[in-house]
Amino acid sequence: MGRIRVLSDVVANKIAAGEVVERPASVVKELLENSLDAGATDLRIDIETGGRRLIRITDDGCGMLRDDALLAFERHATSKLSDVADLLAISTLGFRGEALPSIASVARLTLETRDRSEDTGTRVEIAGGKILRCDEAALTGGTVLTVRDLFYNVPARKKFLRSEQTELAHIATLVTHYALAHPGKSFLLRNGAAELLHVTPAAEPRDRVFQVFGAELLEDLVDLGTRQTRLALPPPYIAPGEQQRPDEPPSPEHRHFTLRGFVSRPQVQKLNRNSIYLFVNGRVIRDKLLLHALSSAYHNLMPPGCFPFALLFLDCDCEEVDVNVHPSKTEVRFRHGSFVHDFLRDAVREVLSAARPVARAAVEDLRSPGQAQPAATLPFSEFSQQRETELLGQAFNPWSAPAPQQRLTFGDSAPEPAPPPVEDAAIRLRVPDTHAGFPEGWTAAADMASMARLEDLRPLGQLHESFIIAAGRDGLWIIDQHVAHERILFEQVLKQARLGRGERQRLLMPIVLPLTPAQEVEYARIADELERAGFETEPFGHRTIAIKASPAGVGAGDIERVVREVLEIAESELRRASVEDLRRGISATIACRAAIKINTRLDMAKMQWMLEALSRTEYPMACPHGRPVALRYSTRDILRGFHRM
Ligand code: ADP
Ligand code: MG
Repeated sequence: MGRIRVLSDVVANKIAAGEVVERPASVVKELLENSLDAGATDLRIDIETGGRRLIRITDDGCGMLRDDALLAFERHATSKLSDVADLLAISTLGFRGEALPSIASVARLTLETRDRSEDTGTRVEIAGGKILRCDEAALTGGTVLTVRDLFYNVPARKKFLRSEQTELAHIATLVTHYALAHPGKSFLLRNGAAELLHVTPAAEPRDRVFQVFGAELLEDLVDLGTRQTRLALPPPYIAPGEQQRPDEPPSPEHRHFTLRGFVSRPQVQKLNRNSIYLFVNGRVIRDKLLLHALSSAYHNLMPPGCFPFALLFLDCDCEEVDVNVHPSKTEVRFRHGSFVHDFLRDAVREVLSAARPVARAAVEDLRSPGQAQPAATLPFSEFSQQRETELLGQAFNPWSAPAPQQRLTFGDSAPEPAPPPVEDAAIRLRVPDTHAGFPEGWTAAADMASMARLEDLRPLGQLHESFIIAAGRDGLWIIDQHVAHERILFEQVLKQARLGRGERQRLLMPIVLPLTPAQEVEYARIADELERAGFETEPFGHRTIAIKASPAGVGAGDIERVVREVLEIAESELRRASVEDLRRGISATIACRAAIKINTRLDMAKMQWMLEALSRTEYPMACPHGRPVALRYSTRDILRGFHRM
């Protein structure tokens, strides 16, 4: 007997489930897509324990006929596709006919549905892929799909699930996506009794953005309007010897692309890509090509490592995009990828340069308080390539991200009657992230042994009101005042946070901060750590929190930003991280905000204090983000330079 066997449906479905159903959010995705394909306009999502115990989607869509209700659980059973040709032009979200049988094979599932043309509805119960019962049921039109005990029969999968909060955050992000893509429909997402998102039908996409993110973000957005382009396809190939029919002029076929949506002005700088919402033909996708096109549009407008908010809907002829790339359907393949890439990049770039940046408080960050306006530009030619566009200046806030680049202003001390715009006075200093690339002779003082000599340093003065110049036994030192102070504060805040005693300052007026549904979930997870670091926050009505106290040293204008950044960190890489990592992340963010800025004059006593405090830190060589604190020009090199050696 041969050794090859055809797998039973039960096994095949479980294998498929491995690809389609990765986590509770993937179940929500498939079920929501089904409801949308069914024409639903009112979608309700109920979750318990992050989706492990319960996921229920209730819709008012077309419902299913009784026969279909059973057939839907057969592998590759779909109403959306009938032959291969259809695959080239998929207009529905689903088409593989895999979701329901896959989900049913790894959970306990109940389907209640009624097509309005039938008198009664149908209830089907399935567990682990086995149909337990199928009854008539008195139902109104539409469908309710209840998924309980996800992965109850796949312990290996269950083990990979993250905490309840993390899974819930994924679900919240996903529902937010669909709510943005369908402004005319209502969405309600509940976790137990708590409402995470509730939006009623809105007339315009803009109104939906307002419902989900609030007025503040809306102000920072630029509307792309409707941008269209078309691509002429080459005329069909005519074999040699074959004649083109004279009555058929060689009309090249065209493909159409439309882009709509919103992008943020460059001053909105997120630390992760979570605020980029991309849709292709109404489908939520994560696509490297489009993400790349978007970052190219912001090239030179934002420091590296920072990301904009974007809500982009690309619609094109179905033939132009292959959605059948991955079972979860979040990846796509474009037939004319580079055309699409450039279309998106240019469209976004165009609206960004047309929309003048609004004046921001950030301008003040570029000047030292009380100092004469920076008057003349110091044209270090190697530093001046940043001014590719006039957008950069005012909108750019050098302190918004731990990016390995900073912007400096250099000015004559002689005041001039008419100060030039800030961008003229600004240059960008490239701080290399490795030790290579320092000016000849200079080395990053990155070893403990040389940093131990910090305490012997004698400050000589300040360069460009940004760097402390100091003399040491072993040579000349330059210390970045911001980075040094950041290191000092980081260790201090971290120590206090570990003891649970972050030094705090009370605010006269609480700051009220609106959150996205995913951030609200994230907030619940990290509230304790915020508290330990010196924040006092509490939930404040619907999807907002009130900040009542903040860590000492964080300026009033920075408080909101610190909390937002902490939430962004928590949302991205630290989601998997330990409490200690989260604590370090929070401390680093606070330290970065509270640290003294560059372009700030320091007197000798302050410089002395800084060097001493730095010498007492555990790790004085680099800031928490890895930037070097000090450069050293050794006495040896000085002697060599003067030919004394
Ligand atoms: P696909 O969406 O790829 O067709 P699914 O397994 O997700 O495959 O669903 C199978 C079929 O069940 C769908 O083609 C559709 O006809 C039907 N169906 C699923 N969910 C719903 C719903 N909420 N309302 C109406 N019909 C549905
Ligand atoms: Mg489907």
